[in-house]
Amino acid sequence: MKYYSLNHNAPKVSFQEAVIQGLATDKGLYFPESITPLSKDFFENIENLSNSEIAFEAIKQFVGDEIPTETLKQIIAETLCFDFPTVKVEAGIYALELYHGPTMAFKDVGARFMSRCLGYFNKDKKDNKNTVLVATSGDTGGAVASGFLGVQGVEVVILYPSGKVSDIQERQLTTLGQNIKALEVNGVFDDCQDMVKKAFLDESLAHHNLTSANSINIARWLPQMFYFFFAYKQLKSQNKPLVFSCPSGNFGNICAGIMAKKLGLPIEHFVASTNVNDTVPRFLVEGNYDPKPSKATISNAMDVGNPSNFIRIQEMYNNDLEQFKKDFSSFSYTDEETLEAMKSIYKTDGYIAEPHGAVGYLGLKKELINHPNAIGIFLETAHPIKFLDVVEPALNITLPIPTQIESVLNKEKVSTKIKTYEELKAFLG
Ligand SMILES: *Cc1c(COP(=O)(O)O)cnc(C)c1O
Repeated sequence: MKYYSLNHNAPKVSFQEAVIQGLATDKGLYFPESITPLSKDFFENIENLSNSEIAFEAIKQFVGDEIPTETLKQIIAETLCFDFPTVKVEAGIYALELYHGPTMAFKDVGARFMSRCLGYFNKDKKDNKNTVLVATSGDTGGAVASGFLGVQGVEVVILYPSGKVSDIQERQLTTLGQNIKALEVNGVFDDCQDMVKKAFLDESLAHHNLTSANSINIARWLPQMFYFFFAYKQLKSQNKPLVFSCPSGNFGNICAGIMAKKLGLPIEHFVASTNVNDTVPRFLVEGNYDPKPSKATISNAMDVGNPSNFIRIQEMYNNDLEQFKKDFSSFSYTDEETLEAMKSIYKTDGYIAEPHGAVGYLGLKKELINHPNAIGIFLETAHPIKFLDVVEPALNITLPIPTQIESVLNKEKVSTKIKTYEELKAFLG
């Protein structure tokens, strides 16, 4: 499979090159040259397939012959080492829980898949290391740190906005050591993201073989389509149209869902639910794309002013806004509305949603008015424990600490504070 740059001013590359480079030389995101829908047979028999078998069918055309079949199957099995249950919250509404992995957020899937692909591509290289440089607004850092820990030939440098991620999130990305380094940036997420983008284009850093592990990277982004298939498999027997609501920040998750639909997965409608960082909801109403600096909210993994993956979504709709709007809605919610939703979901349904999931729930409820016969699914993108500072006081409860989290709580934080791009360069050396 070849990948082209969405800025259309860079050579086409293989899967391997796209994974290693992250971003194309013209700063564009990579996009696959062709998308072939899966067979009718596959969807008719999906309930008889294991999650690993489903994932293999979904991803194989995007990898092509660049990873041997048995190795790819092994990578998928290691990626999907946990469950993806659809949990009934109330009549017609399910939470797709993506948080049962090692760092308790959906980003475990993409990070585990990508790290293992990179490990495979590096297996024969002796001194030609890759450096994964990644900006995180919260959960990416932990998932990348855990997913890449100990991977051969890969150094990981994680930039995060100082004081703007939760205590648990911070520990997950600052306590592992080995090949994982954390940089604490005096700024907001967009400052971290800008530094990372700048570093990729900086010739003087070429010797580091920098790559990204944000959903910019196709090996982080594409496997995120797997769990839309897993949800379908679980809910198929109800024979109803499906509406998915994704709490969205960089729009990688929802973009992967749209890719799943392109592969033939019957999804009736998508909702991109956001916090007050509402660039996309405004775009759908006003018709012009006008990114703003990000604002801090209680759903901080979605504090993104300029969502990287939106351009991929537009590509999948040939930039046809009218067609796009038939399949896609986007709504924005304040922190107050999010807290209210968390309380009412807990009180009425007995379900504990963290702030991102609650934003997803709100968008779903709104859209379902237009789809009375549908099943609605909101993605629960993180375990409530990762946002305990918000969840516990809002619901007046104490959450038990899961074992995955307990293991980082007593470890010592190690980070380097930086303010400027020059300091990042100096750190990389
Ligand atoms: C990253 C993240 C999101 C946003 O996902 P995108 O793919 O960037 O839109 C939502 N919720 C949580 C908990 C996250 O970590």
